[in-house]
Amino acid sequence: MIPPKEQQRPPGFDCPKCGFFIEMSIESLLYSSSQVCPGCTTAYSMDREKSNDALKLVQKLHVAMKNIDTVKKFDGKH
Ligand SMILES: [Zn+2]
Repeated sequence: MIPPKEQQRPPGFDCPKCGFFIEMSIESLLYSSSQVCPGCTTAYSMDREKSNDALKLVQKLHVAMKNIDTVKKFDGKH
């Protein structure tokens, strides 16, 4: 089953200050240590050691997204 496009939310989190959805690419999560909210420009820095569990989760998500991409490509060929 492939979920409709509307349900494929990009990775990220809701800003605790303004509620703006901060979109985070997997790459920025894995390779940069901070993220700035586009809504209120609050910078969120990530403690890599403390957020290790979160990073593992993100990596799982990354794999899941790759799988979705593969399914889409397969569907496209069909
Ligand atoms: Zn914000």
